[in-house]
Amino acid sequence: MIKELRSRYPGKSRSWVRRSLRRFLSNDVRTLGSNAWVVRGEPSMGDRLPQYIVRFINGKYVCDCQMTAWSSSREICTHIGAVLISQLYEEFMKTTYAAIVEADCVDNELIILGNNEVVVDRVAQGGATIYVVRTRQEATIKALLACNDEIRELIIGTKPMKGWEVMKVMRSNTAHPQ
Ligand SMILES: [Zn+2]
Repeated sequence: MIKELRSRYPGKSRSWVRRSLRRFLSNDVRTLGSNAWVVRGEPSMGDRLPQYIVRFINGKYVCDCQMTAWSSSREICTHIGAVLISQLYEEFMKTTYAAIVEADCVDNELIILGNNEVVVDRVAQGGATIYVVRTRQEATIKALLACNDEIRELIIGTKPMKGWEVMKVMRSNTAHPQ
């Protein structure tokens, strides 16, 4: 999970990750609405207020601690960090319904037939391609897989998977050199 967090926010330091994680692990995050959270203030971590509200506005996270005049930081504070971790945790633990389709040819395309509630992610993996097919419920889907000049008919069955299992597959190719 920390790996995923680091890959989404690559500029963040180890101490940012550690402090955000500490807030999350001590249950400091409560959901306030669909785009707002309360993060409890920790005097031991330098917080001055008993609580901070983090909001997601116009595609950006903002926190109460950034409102104060002396605050130099327009950056993602660790209150926001704790919220990000709690969301990631939910994503990881959530059950999704997914199937993995492998295409072992260079030029390929997966076409789903007659079902618009299917989410397809394409993951390049070396010379091959993996498609992660997700549905809201367990489902059987008809699809066409175009592979070079050949078109194959497929029946894809999605099965319950944990969010982290799906993410692991999606991340499997993005070779991080470290
Ligand atoms: Zn903050």
